[in-house]
Amino acid sequence: MSKNNGQKLAGKVAVVTGGSRGIGAAITKRLASDGASVAFTYTKGADAAASVVKEIERRGGKAIAIQADAADVMAVKAAVEKAVATFGPLDILVNNAGTAIPNRFEDATLEEMNRVIDINVRGVFVATQAALKHMRDGGRIISIGSSVGERVMAPGLVPYAATKGAVKIFTQGLAREVGSRGITVNNVQPGPIDTELNPATGDWAVPQKAATALNRYGHVDDIAAMVAFVAGPEASYITGANLTVDGGTNA
Ligand code: NDP
Repeated sequence: MSKNNGQKLAGKVAVVTGGSRGIGAAITKRLASDGASVAFTYTKGADAAASVVKEIERRGGKAIAIQADAADVMAVKAAVEKAVATFGPLDILVNNAGTAIPNRFEDATLEEMNRVIDINVRGVFVATQAALKHMRDGGRIISIGSSVGERVMAPGLVPYAATKGAVKIFTQGLAREVGSRGITVNNVQPGPIDTELNPATGDWAVPQKAATALNRYGHVDDIAAMVAFVAGPEASYITGANLTVDGGTNA
């Protein structure tokens, strides 16, 4: 696994939130295959998390899974502490955990809106603050926003899109504060990517697919590749950027 890509992240320590399935699992595996030791969080899927760890270890990499809901401030802080205690000071944080609760805005409940804000925005704030305390100079903070953080192509995602817009401007603002430490802050904005959150089949997928220039959903590895590049040594001059990987959805 590692031989083919030159181990660009050898010796680096990464934390990925929501790494047991979907985009986060692809990112976790890719960072590990590039040589990083990766601690990742999940909430419910202990089996899925264990299988990601197993797969990485089988290929000679290092990973641990930590149960921590991104909406639970204490759990997020404890997860970062555990990552540092296990692997040492951090080089990379990937804020991937996120959720969408599709609904028309006028019908969205306060509970739904709070949940989306707590995970997608407050979770990013808390994990980033906790990680910055332990981040080495030259580190990388990478959040997974969304193409809908810049342009909303369909109804039903108003609070979700607003949280991803928040991630975008969070990225730009924070880049200004931590640049003096050589830490970069970037926002990778996927378009439709085939996962359990957004399956490429079914009614919901039809308009999303049609909105792309390529007339297809993307693969989780398309996002992992961008994250690995931003995390790597060739990306040290990229910061405060919103990097859209959306098959042309926002073109
Ligand atoms: P999935 O629902 O397929 O996977 C989510 C992952 O995060 C799982 O590992 C899940 O594990 C974990 N997770 C879910 N909720 C929490 C939480 N509260 N705290 C910690 N971990 C959690 O989602 P995707 O892979 O599709 O999405 C990942 C990110 O990409 C999200 O931020 C999403 O908004 C963004 N995105 C996705 C797009 C898509 O088309 N798929 C498009 C644009 C952006 P467990 O079940 O154990 O909690």
